[in-house]
Amino acid sequence: MSFQGHNTLLWAILAGALGGIFSGWFFGESMLAIEWLGTLFLNALKMTIIPLIVAAVISGVASMGNVRKLGRVGGLTVLYYVSTTALAVLIGLVVVNLIQPGSGITELSHAVPEKVITLETASFTNIILSLITPNLIASAVEFDLLPIIIFSLLFAAALTTVGEKGKVVIRFFDGLNEVMMKLVIWLMYLAPVGIFALIAARLGAAGGGAAFWNEISAVGWYCVAVLLGLLIHFLLLIAILHLFSHQGMAYLKSMMRALVTAFGTASSTATLPLTMECALEAGIDKRAVKFVLPLGATVNMDGTALYEAVAVMFIAQAYGIHMGATEQIIIFITATLAAIGAAGIPQAGLVTMVIVLTAVNLPLEGIGLLLAVDWFLDRFRTMVNVWGDSTGAAIIERVISD
Ligand code: ASP
Repeated sequence: MSFQGHNTLLWAILAGALGGIFSGWFFGESMLAIEWLGTLFLNALKMTIIPLIVAAVISGVASMGNVRKLGRVGGLTVLYYVSTTALAVLIGLVVVNLIQPGSGITELSHAVPEKVITLETASFTNIILSLITPNLIASAVEFDLLPIIIFSLLFAAALTTVGEKGKVVIRFFDGLNEVMMKLVIWLMYLAPVGIFALIAARLGAAGGGAAFWNEISAVGWYCVAVLLGLLIHFLLLIAILHLFSHQGMAYLKSMMRALVTAFGTASSTATLPLTMECALEAGIDKRAVKFVLPLGATVNMDGTALYEAVAVMFIAQAYGIHMGATEQIIIFITATLAAIGAAGIPQAGLVTMVIVLTAVNLPLEGIGLLLAVDWFLDRFRTMVNVWGDSTGAAIIERVISD
């Protein structure tokens, strides 16, 4: 795509998002009539994900040359992702302690929302077990991406050790990856309409602008705390990126199409194809894009981690339960891990929050306080999640090209 074309598309996507907000706000439920257009776009993105991830990870890892380099790059990627996630939680804790959004909330819920009941049994052993799947096809059907990435990693590592015979297999996956990326470029042209429909229909489902505003006002300070924390983290990531590569703002502009798509879909997994395409266009090393981004979209969730810390503290404040230093350290650790365990799908963070609440003995009913506005905050935290992955790719690129 030419630079001019890429600018026009960005403006079209931004116009789609703003138009969606405007139409959903004023026309309310009638916008549900165009929901199918959003679903069509989302399905088209999801259709590419499994072949794209498998081909990208295998071809990216195989092109690193040797297992030792892979180990170094993999280690640094995980280190970068875990430390920025921990930084996000820390920012969340500072903001929520300063703003105290939960004090003054009087209407407490008394029932555990149905959405979270299924995850009450989540445990860390389950998270570890979920890394390896006994059935690749079943995982693909469920969009359970982490075991698929791990399989692809192992497959690629083995591929680099079988010499001549492996070369044709590597070429096959290189080709498959190119073809999938071509499809993604085509799909990108659907983004303006898709994002318009997704946003307008979701705001319409919430009853339009006035009804939505009422819901937000009930927990206004909580929304302020989450959004402020996310903004601070977003800006810090630009600063960190600038330290490494002096191109923070230019890169942000290149990634904008992916970020607005993240806002529209509330899913970092569904956005992944566009994140990869934007990063490639921004000139990021192919190997970093193919390896670091799929891993990031699955495990790196800075926005989710920050949000979980703020939400849990908000619940404690609303129920008048004091969280001392020890409890906040537990929240810090568990929110980091719960975000790593969250899938890149809409409102996954709301569900894995159960892990954090249980760790500090807070009532699961508290989640009821957050439900009404969660779909809205989800879109912002997904943008931060995708931005976190993208900065990871740009920084790890430096290591790969050394
Ligand atoms: N929707 C988020 C994502 O896909 C996850 C979450 O925080 O719920 O990245």
